[in-house]
Formats: sequence, structure tokens, C-alpha cells
Amino acid sequence: MGCRERHSKWVLIRLCRSGETLDVDSSGRAAGRGAYICAKMECWEAAKRRRALQRALRLAAGVPVPDRVAGLVAGMISNSTPETGWGPVQGQEEVLSRS
Ligand SMILES: [Zn+2]
Repeated sequence: MGCRERHSKWVLIRLCRSGETLDVDSSGRAAGRGAYICAKMECWEAAKRRRALQRALRLAAGVPVPDRVAGLVAGMISNSTPETGWGPVQGQEEVLSRS
């Protein structure tokens, strides 16, 4: 997804095409064309700047990233770590309560 580096530990966030705009595919199972970005703010910013998402999703280059989507992705990125990515960690509560 336009990212020249490989951040192998960063889980990818999937975006999908939703009509004539784009949306976050938090289930990872939405039908159709998807675009993946690293859960890393610099990759997200670069993808937005280069209109890489619009290209990957075959949208017009002028289609803006909806504020709601930008907010969701930023939240997912700020909650992510290189170890776990943005997804919910199975059994995390268990581990925390044990200490
Ligand atoms: Zn990246």
C-alpha cells in the first residue's frame, strides 16, 4: 500500500470502498476492493498525502477521506503497539488482572 518500508510487526488496517467514498473495514471481511495501511501514523499521513487510498480503491483522486474515517484510523493507530497492532488482544484483561 505505497509503504516502502516493511513494518512487519505493525498490523495492517483495512480500508474498503463504500459507494463513492471510503470506510474503515474493522471486520476485515467487507466485500470488494480493500486497501491496507500500517497501523503507524507516518504511513497513514503519507497515504493520505499521496492519495494512495483513493488510487488503491479506484476512487476519484479528489474524494476526501471522511473525517469519521480519519478519526477512526487515528484512534486505531494511537491504540496500537508494534506487538499487538490495533486489534483487540485476546486474553489481555486476564493477563493484566493477574499481576
Ligand atoms: Zn508502513
